[in-house]
Amino acid sequence: MDEIKASPASITAKYLNGSSLLELPSQFRKGSGSLSIVNASTHNLKNVSVVIPTGVLVALTGVSGSGKSSLVEEVCEQNPNKVILVDQSAVGANQRGCIATYTGTFDLIRKLFAQENSVSASLFSYNSTGACDECKGLGHMDIDMNFLGDIKIKCPKCDGKRYMSEVLKYLYNGKSIDQVLESTVEEALTFFSQKEIKDKLGMLAEVGLDYIELGQSLDTLSGGESQRLKLASRLQSKGEFYILDEPTSGLHFADIEKLLNLLNRLVDNGNTVLVVEHNLKVISSSDWVIDLGLEGGDKGGELIAQGTPNDILGCERSYTAKYLKGAIKGE
Ligand SMILES: [Zn+2]
Repeated sequence: MDEIKASPASITAKYLNGSSLLELPSQFRKGSGSLSIVNASTHNLKNVSVVIPTGVLVALTGVSGSGKSSLVEEVCEQNPNKVILVDQSAVGANQRGCIATYTGTFDLIRKLFAQENSVSASLFSYNSTGACDECKGLGHMDIDMNFLGDIKIKCPKCDGKRYMSEVLKYLYNGKSIDQVLESTVEEALTFFSQKEIKDKLGMLAEVGLDYIELGQSLDTLSGGESQRLKLASRLQSKGEFYILDEPTSGLHFADIEKLLNLLNRLVDNGNTVLVVEHNLKVISSSDWVIDLGLEGGDKGGELIAQGTPNDILGCERSYTAKYLKGAIKGE
């Protein structure tokens, strides 16, 4: 730990040394409307009624077990078709899906390869004629190890490249299709000049997924990555009410900053974003906080405080206020 603190270049060090204590924004957005929750009593909630402002960034806080997830359930149930839950579940359970297919860029890329080489576009699909016949385009084989379960090994015939070897002879801009799939979003953004491809991949870069490879299978993404991938497709939306559960989980400090920019952008576009969060940086950057407590389980399920982060600070009972104060003043 001392080593990390000593390194001046490290972003982690900057936070640990306290040189970036939190600051509350000088002003908070005003809501454009509201969404009401009346007498919420799911699980441990004790008849909680709350009016959630819309058009702002809302943080739902409280110790673990205080009823945050239950309140989210009630928000969804009491406002059907009005809220969109952007959770961390996997995007598509199909192990054939990858980043390129999900973003819709793969079709465009296959067409470019087909035009350049005057062959059929289906050759460049690992789900079609171009697929390695050994692994059927998966790039790996599942081997049943009996008691140990299945293990995945790289396909020996295509070496994990998913394609028949003759397909890899066709190049576009000096790269074969498997090399393109191995490119990161960031690399692909410079490699391709087509606006449609750039636009689609640009959204991934905006949600902080620029390091992901185009061919990466969707079932290998972490919960946080899946969540940000879902957000990427919603960057242009307006007037929606999004709920995100712990979007900062697993993120590095610098990426939390990026995520916050993204959430703020969604709000500035006219959407409401409600985050269930423990992260103090996100809480302090919110326009409105709804704090549940006081403890978990039977001792939880009550509305402890609501208001701007400034208002929350004044609540003596709130644990969130206590931690927030510490982070702001360095106490
Ligand atoms: Zn193979």
